[in-house]
Amino acid sequence: MKYRAILLFGAPGAGKGTQGKILGQIPNFVHFSSGDAFRGLRVDSPLGKVFVEYAAKGQLVPDEPTIELWKQSVHGLIGNGRFNPDADLLVLDGIPRNPNQVRIMEDLIEVKAIFNLFCPVLDKLVVRLQRRALKENRLDDANVEVIRQRLETYRRETRAVLDCYPEQIIHQVDSTQEPLLVLLDILKTLSRLPKPAISDGGTTFHEHPARAVIS
Ligand code: ADP
Repeated sequence: MKYRAILLFGAPGAGKGTQGKILGQIPNFVHFSSGDAFRGLRVDSPLGKVFVEYAAKGQLVPDEPTIELWKQSVHGLIGNGRFNPDADLLVLDGIPRNPNQVRIMEDLIEVKAIFNLFCPVLDKLVVRLQRRALKENRLDDANVEVIRQRLETYRRETRAVLDCYPEQIIHQVDSTQEPLLVLLDILKTLSRLPKPAISDGGTTFHEHPARAVIS
């Protein structure tokens, strides 16, 4: 069985995490951020060490351990009851991050929609990331060289993920808008998705407000 998913896509600093956290508050939406999963590892664990090594250079962690961490995290979410694959939609933020990850995940997820949080001028994101560095104590946001390297990694490796999916499911969202308006764009599209994409089955109780007033 494949997990139904939507992808939040975009360059570092485009706002995937901000939107993902909000969407994850909606019933039947479960947010997963690969960056948060990596940062949640102990830095002295084997994968934690690999993460620090790559993230500090603005590079992607190799694909196999990345996907393994994702699988384990999702199994964990299922195990502790926070993700019910029959009813919930995964909101993936930061993964898949290159075409090879798309291929590996092909049999594991069914992508219902992709939100491309695009930024016409990538350099604008440098300022956002520097601001975030102060707030979140992130080693990879700390210096401009690393930030530039991450934007370069995005251009070189990640952007091609969009070419792996049919155009009809890719929705363009201007990430330079304020977060509320970005959210609004995403919600409008989500509300138009065929219902089974969001939640399967379940008994639906219809209440008609007009009738409720009359009776
Ligand atoms: P951002 O989107 O701002 O670059 P993330 O929090 O998503 O930040 O990721 C931080 C770092 O974690 C990345 O620079 C990379 O080293 C690693 N990482 C996160 N997701 C992946 C992934 N899917 N594949 C490989 N590395 C990843």
